[in-house]
Amino acid sequence: MIISGISVIIAVLLVTAVLHDYSTDKLEAEIRTEAEIIAEAVEMNGGRFLDEADFNDDIRVTWISKSGKVIYDSEEDPADLGNHSDRKEVSEAAENGEGSSYRYSDTIMKTTLNHAVKLSDGTIIRVSSVHNSLIAQMMSALRPLLLILVITALISALYAMAVSRSIVKPVNDIDLDRPVIEKSYKELSPLVDKLRTQNIKVARQLEQLSQSREQLSLITENMSEGLIIIDPKTNVLSSNYAALELLGNPSFTDGQSVYALNNSDVFRRCLLNALGGVRSECIVKADGGERAVIASPASGTGMLCGIVVFVMDVTEKQQLEVMRREFTSNVSHELKTPLTTIYGIADMLAEGMVEADDVPRFGGDIRAEAERMITLINDIISLSKLDEDAAPHETEDIDIYELAEEILGRLKVNAAQKDLSCSLSGEHVHINGSRTILGEVIYNLCDNAVKYNVDGGSLSVKVSHAPMTARITVSDTGIGIPQEHISRIFERFYRVDKSRSRRIKGTGLGLSIVKHGVMYHGGTVHAESTAGSGTTFTVELPIEK
Ligand code: ADP
Repeated sequence: MIISGISVIIAVLLVTAVLHDYSTDKLEAEIRTEAEIIAEAVEMNGGRFLDEADFNDDIRVTWISKSGKVIYDSEEDPADLGNHSDRKEVSEAAENGEGSSYRYSDTIMKTTLNHAVKLSDGTIIRVSSVHNSLIAQMMSALRPLLLILVITALISALYAMAVSRSIVKPVNDIDLDRPVIEKSYKELSPLVDKLRTQNIKVARQLEQLSQSREQLSLITENMSEGLIIIDPKTNVLSSNYAALELLGNPSFTDGQSVYALNNSDVFRRCLLNALGGVRSECIVKADGGERAVIASPASGTGMLCGIVVFVMDVTEKQQLEVMRREFTSNVSHELKTPLTTIYGIADMLAEGMVEADDVPRFGGDIRAEAERMITLINDIISLSKLDEDAAPHETEDIDIYELAEEILGRLKVNAAQKDLSCSLSGEHVHINGSRTILGEVIYNLCDNAVKYNVDGGSLSVKVSHAPMTARITVSDTGIGIPQEHISRIFERFYRVDKSRSRRIKGTGLGLSIVKHGVMYHGGTVHAESTAGSGTTFTVELPIEK
């Protein structure tokens, strides 16, 4: 477009210059001829010719006297015009017969070409015509010039568009995924080759990337711990399902703020610490449980680029911790009570404050309290042996029926004291297990059935064979357990009615030992009871074990 524009302008300039020269020559010749013809006509006809003549608009005819005074002028009133003898063409004509000049005329404000011819009587005829300057000529050609420029520009633009499109088309047609040189310029073959190798490399890297991403997501999705990766603006970049589950918002989608998962103050503080570059931990409550949250800052090249958050379910751990604390305080309390009594009695004896007759009674009290402590300590030892990480117990083939028979025999005296009728029914079922533990299980159940029975009541034990399990049922006709307590009786130190239970000896650990003993054998135990009419405990033990 620029080239054609410049070409058009130069062409117009040159043509105008040439035409200007040509038109100047032509105008000079025309003016001369015109002046000679008019001079001849005036020579023959005098001033009458001028008065009658009707001159063309583009020439001006002036008749000047010998003295330079204007006699006639085709455009102006001669009276208004000054003496013309000093005009170059006039003075030349007066001298040589004819003369010409170019002059800028103030009257018409244009350059004029003048030619003067001297007549035989010494007067002078002068013909003038306006002569267009080069610039004026150019200005008159400006409009067509602009038109040509616009048209040329349009044609050039359209053509340039078509040409550039046709040049670029083969390049655009290259399929970047599968570049083939045949469809494009030969010269591009090195580039196309490079593209092809690059494509292969990229595809390979993408495959590796997606493989490692899959591996990572497989690992994270199978983790039972929650994993969340957060950017410095606390938006979640990535999270696994466990995290969403643990924080109780499975419908959460990555990209949202992490606070949509948990908005508690502790959680916010923990993340803020990590954002400040300090690893921090907290426990938050979510989805009905307790979760440990560990937030670690992730920084690369000294700049914090996000936080990695681990979420773990610590509900059980927290509960165990509470239980451990309760257990310790319960044990201390349970040991302190008999010891205080023993100390009190011993103190009285030492101070000689006890009558000789009362000594056997006080001695009996000391024995009873010491017995209580021994029972408690034995129960604690049994329980600690049953703890998960305790050493495994020796197992053997056990006839449960026989074991129950032996235990009922041990409790005969206690049962007799309450005038209870004891019965054992069922069949001989064998299981492979620990005699000590199973003995404790059955003993505690039967002992409770005796302890919490009413005078003249009954206790019946049944050993039966369910398809894959051995079932032991211990039923009594005792005081029973109110419904609201049944779910708690297996807890350590839990006693239904503390004040009443005080009268009935017990540690509150018996049913804990039962529960753990049964669990050790992979079985289950549950209680059914009606307050005031009796209780039935059912133990199911898998036979394979
Ligand atoms: P304890 O040493 O007090 O007997 P256990 O753990 O054996 O401790 O029992 C817990 C509580 O469950 C007892 O204090 C008692 O209130 C209740 N309980 C257990 N067995 C029976 C039963 N057969 N009849 C009525 N209440 C029972």
